[in-house]
Amino acid sequence: MSKITDIAVIGGGASGLAAAIEAKNVMPKARVVILEKLDRVGKKLLATGNGRCNLSNMDMGSHHYHGSVKNVMRIINGTPTAKEFFGSIGVVCSADSKGRIYPRSNSAATVLNALRLRAKELGIVERCGFEANFIESTPDCFRISSEKGEKYPCKRVIVAAGGYAAPQFGTDGSVIRLLRSNGCHTTKICPAVAPLRVRPELLKGLKGVRAKGKVTALSAGRILKEETGEIQFTESSLSGICVFNMAHLISQYVGKLTLRLDLASDMDMEQLVGYLRIIQYQRSSCTLEEILTGLFVRNLAFYLTKRALGKPLTEPISALKEADLRTIAQLIKNLDFEVLGSAPWKEAQVTSGGISGDCVDEQLQLRGAKGIFLCGEILDVDGDCGGYNLQWAWSSGIMAGRCCANSLRGALL
Ligand SMILES: Cc1cc2nc3c(=O)[nH]c(=O)nc-3n(C[C@H](O)[C@H](O)[C@H](O)COP(=O)(O)OP(=O)(O)OC[C@H]3O[C@@H](n4cnc5c(N)ncnc54)[C@H](O)[C@@H]3O)c2cc1C
Repeated sequence: MSKITDIAVIGGGASGLAAAIEAKNVMPKARVVILEKLDRVGKKLLATGNGRCNLSNMDMGSHHYHGSVKNVMRIINGTPTAKEFFGSIGVVCSADSKGRIYPRSNSAATVLNALRLRAKELGIVERCGFEANFIESTPDCFRISSEKGEKYPCKRVIVAAGGYAAPQFGTDGSVIRLLRSNGCHTTKICPAVAPLRVRPELLKGLKGVRAKGKVTALSAGRILKEETGEIQFTESSLSGICVFNMAHLISQYVGKLTLRLDLASDMDMEQLVGYLRIIQYQRSSCTLEEILTGLFVRNLAFYLTKRALGKPLTEPISALKEADLRTIAQLIKNLDFEVLGSAPWKEAQVTSGGISGDCVDEQLQLRGAKGIFLCGEILDVDGDCGGYNLQWAWSSGIMAGRCCANSLRGALL
């Protein structure tokens, strides 16, 4: 059995690295070890923001966060901003025109390297290839066991093992299940920040198409959420940031969820019909293939015309009636897809749901097991796409690390 450690952090991802660094900053004498299941820490971080790492956002409103943890904003406001935290470890950050914050290098590797350098400088030990599968509480300490039967005794535990999303980066929900078997309860769990599946036959001819527009999520005639941006069509799902941000709704609304696409959100219905009338006049000698040329890419133009009119595209534009023009315009502004569910976990970026907010106190310590702190995606918090999930990982990691280290005051050998 290894020598007793002061703080063991389970999971060397975003929140685990932040927690370990903060714990050491607060309590430099504490022995801190990161227990990571994969062969190196921070693998998911390297994939974030398409390799650029969108690490926070200038607009930190509470409406960007969902879940049962009540004090998300208090934790975010009570910890350094991402710019301050990364500034303190030498990473220069800048925001793009939409307020999304990235490292100035535009490279996620810069962020991970700086975190690891700081961790090394502070004497934090990385123990990779250790898959925690049991946490035992003894009168003197906790004992974390691995798959291989190794045991790690420690005075405090920070659980930063992530959720279910993107299991290819080590997060398969096993630690959520472990905590559940130890009495923690979980909220409904489903993929968030993920593509949404719709009937594949409704997407025929659209694979690979991208279009700008407004997406409205509707359930029982009620508008749940609206977002504008780029919509991407795949073989069996709708994708793009504005669709990703609708995925968390699946965990909250039972019944039918519909995504309504408005592919001409910059025009009202009458402007669109007026535009089509002019096109009909200008292209009177052309076939229906050309009615939407100039408004949409070819595959989308064909798709919309066919789906609206149900006629062969070889028919002349001149034969269209006013009602046909209105039908086309109506479809462009109300292209409906019933949501069948989220894409699989490996395509999701975040977990909606997790360990319920009432299992932890305001210091992110388990109410039922003092000495165990939680941070990051393992908790029932998910943020919108745009840097909100990493901001939660940094802030909750820093809060858990700080409170965990403070709880050791007077208890260090
Ligand atoms: C492709 C992709 C792109 C993303 N891009 C962005 C972005 O640009 N901006 C943003 O805000 N968010 C983004 N996210 C989401 C963000 O990466 C996560 O929300 C964040 O990393 C969660 O941090 P965490 O520390 O809770 O968990 P993770 O970063 O997932 O880390 C958990 C760690 O725990 C380890 N682990 C799991 N089980 C065990 C165990 N039993 N024992 C030991 N170790 C274990 C895992 O191997 C992993 O290293 C993205 C996610 C993905 C998948």
